Amino acid sequence: MELNLSDLSSMSSQASQEPVEVKVLVLGSGPAGLAAALYAARAELHPVVLTGMEIGGQAAVTHIIENYPGFPDGVGGQEMAELFQKQAERFGAKFEFDSATEVDLSSRPFRVKSYNGQYLAETLIITTGAHPNHLNVPGEKELTGRGVSYCATCDGWFFKEKDVVVVGGGDSALEEGLFLTRYAKSVTIIHRRDQLRAGAILQSRAKDNPKIKFIWDTIVTEVVGEEAVKGVQLKNKKTGEESVLPTDGVFIFIGYTPNTQMFEKQLAFDGNGYLVTNNLMETSVPGVFAAGEVNDPNFRQVITSAGMGAAAAIQATRFIESHSA
Ligand code: NAP
Repeated sequence: MELNLSDLSSMSSQASQEPVEVKVLVLGSGPAGLAAALYAARAELHPVVLTGMEIGGQAAVTHIIENYPGFPDGVGGQEMAELFQKQAERFGAKFEFDSATEVDLSSRPFRVKSYNGQYLAETLIITTGAHPNHLNVPGEKELTGRGVSYCATCDGWFFKEKDVVVVGGGDSALEEGLFLTRYAKSVTIIHRRDQLRAGAILQSRAKDNPKIKFIWDTIVTEVVGEEAVKGVQLKNKKTGEESVLPTDGVFIFIGYTPNTQMFEKQLAFDGNGYLVTNNLMETSVPGVFAAGEVNDPNFRQVITSAGMGAAAAIQATRFIESHSA
């Protein structure tokens, strides 16, 4: 049957009038969401996952993941996401290619609106992740995955004996820059000021590392290259001088933004915009759990996010058991 636009809009308004009741609603389908779906499905809670724009989240755009146990030869990020999804579906998880647009956590069941419908959820597992901030300069988007990266742990290995630059002056830039010295011939940290934001220990480690150089008071105005990164166009903020620095890789660590806007004024946040959970993955609202990068500013790994997702689902299962008549 062929659908036209008016059919679709009437279907969507029909869907929005009749909330779907679920025991577990998972928001997001990165490693945390997919692992939560698997565990909730195996507890026979028939979880529904609103996938967001991309199944697998940030991991899915990683060329190859070589640090997830069980894959001695590595696994493509997208392939891994498909495997996680298939495993969760095998036990009854349902995936909707849809995104939540609004949540009401003031009473249970929680009311969630999405682009295509509405849900009444006994428990909510928030795994909406975080996104690395971008420089938003010419060449950055085009060369992402071709020399531009936001993850040294994921991509550092590809830069063995190469020259790379790191943009940023915070803990992430220095920590990831130090990690990159395992592989790269040289790591040049480009910072927009002459004072680092990073903590003292990381600063002295970076300054003591013979592979690390600094360029101060400088911003990247363009990433240069056709098929792959060849260099960065720089501008000194104090002198206005412009130059091109040849490089094989550009690692950008200028902060992360957790995807939490929807939960503002409803859940507790830390000072950096991450959701606060206890060690049982419970947020400030009973029945709402959070896992992965939405509440993890520290580890940002597939395995840690997946572990947190599993823990959140186990705790959601306990919550449902203790609240059922
Ligand atoms: P961050 O502390 O916000 O640092 C971001 C850095 O990027 C700053 O140096 C900032 O410059 C620079 N920056 C921001 N926007 C920029 C732009 N458009 N162009 C050029 N530079 C730009 O972010 P983070 O390093 O990811 O750290 C986030 C949080 O996680 C922090 O609380 C940090 O302490 C924590 N963290 C801790 C560890 C650890 O303890 N081992 C490791 C990683 C992260 P300015 O300094 O001029 O603002």
